[in-house]
Amino acid sequence: MEIGVINSLTNGGRCFDHVAQFGLKVCQLACWDTSLATREVAQVVVEESVKTGVRVCAVWAGWSGPAEWNFTRGPITLGLVPREYRAQRVEELKRWADFASWIGAPAIITHCGFIPENMTDPEYQPVVDAIREVAQYCQQRGIGFWFETGQETPVVLLRTIQRVGTDNLGINLDPANLILYGKGNPIDALDVIGRWVRNVHVKDGLYPTDGDHLGYEVPVGQGKVRFPEFLQRLKEIGFDGELIIEREISGEQQIRDIRQAVSDLQRWLAEV
Ligand code: MG
Repeated sequence: MEIGVINSLTNGGRCFDHVAQFGLKVCQLACWDTSLATREVAQVVVEESVKTGVRVCAVWAGWSGPAEWNFTRGPITLGLVPREYRAQRVEELKRWADFASWIGAPAIITHCGFIPENMTDPEYQPVVDAIREVAQYCQQRGIGFWFETGQETPVVLLRTIQRVGTDNLGINLDPANLILYGKGNPIDALDVIGRWVRNVHVKDGLYPTDGDHLGYEVPVGQGKVRFPEFLQRLKEIGFDGELIIEREISGEQQIRDIRQAVSDLQRWLAEV
């Protein structure tokens, strides 16, 4: 399990110092602005990746339109679930699939949204069809399509993977998201979706304490994930992918927290 960090695609692709400053050699390249998914930026990314010795293990693919990370408006704004943004976002994810194939990354990752728990919901099948359209496009380009956990329970994700049915699907397991959204315990979730996990976000958090708002993100090791046990279970199921540190704050505190997470992870990994 190699330690890496989320890296925002900025500065035309000259953005790998952010990873190198932590002594890390792998990152997920994340971007919400599809206008950057060009051949020119891809070329710069490839050059900078070689120059800095930093590998891109996946492209985290964002989409346009509103995004509200809460229980009230999340279901009508996030991912491929809201009908009014679905077609546009399918096209945007295809642009990121092109970009990922140009830079040699193995997959794109995104949030699909609050996928209906009820499989007889009339919106469930159209969401599955939209995901399949993107996944097939990825398949044609020789890359994977990985779901980031968050807005759905592990069993809904498992069911959706089975319904989409292509052979290039995987999961970017964000253990904190399962907690922040109150959707599951990440260690137990590995019994349900463990075999699909390709990357992990190293992020921690607390469960929600009211019905409208997510729980709070906290520094790694201070929340409910229980990382030493989580890492042990990942090892037991044979996970050997990347552990990508994600700290959703900015500034100096973010840098300090990432450094601390690197050192804590190294210590925990030595013990599993
Ligand atoms: Mg995440």
